[in-house]
Amino acid sequence: MQDCLFCKIVKKEIPADIVYENERVLVFKDINPIAPVHLLVIPKKHISTLTDMDKEDTLLMGQVQLTAARLAVEMGFAEGGFRLVNNCGRGAGQLVMHIHYHLLAGRPLSWPPG
Ligand code: 5GP
Ligand code: ZN
Repeated sequence: MQDCLFCKIVKKEIPADIVYENERVLVFKDINPIAPVHLLVIPKKHISTLTDMDKEDTLLMGQVQLTAARLAVEMGFAEGGFRLVNNCGRGAGQLVMHIHYHLLAGRPLSWPPG
């Protein structure tokens, strides 16, 4: 989508610190980290929010989650625990309307979140 910040990152029109990429999924460092590890895991396809997902996106979103989990293991922070979180909608704090999971690790993660 033309005016979407994360689509621009996917198309390399805006620079980002990319950690992993394949045909369908992109992982890059959050510009304003709230934990020692703070990655954004996104589908390259533009989907605004989880509620805009179609049935045909099921495999894609599974790949997004699998990518996050594999990276957590490969980067060595799975054992210490990590959080994979999606803010869905403005009321939950979603500012960028392109589905993304925050992958957080490297410090104690309290529950419930704010
Ligand atoms: P949300 O609040 O939508 O769940 O999360 C959006 C995230 O995107 C925020 O954590 C914010 O720091 C991050 N972000 C916003 N603009 C940019 C950018 O231009 N580059 C990167 N790498 N992250 C961004
Ligand atoms: Zn987008």
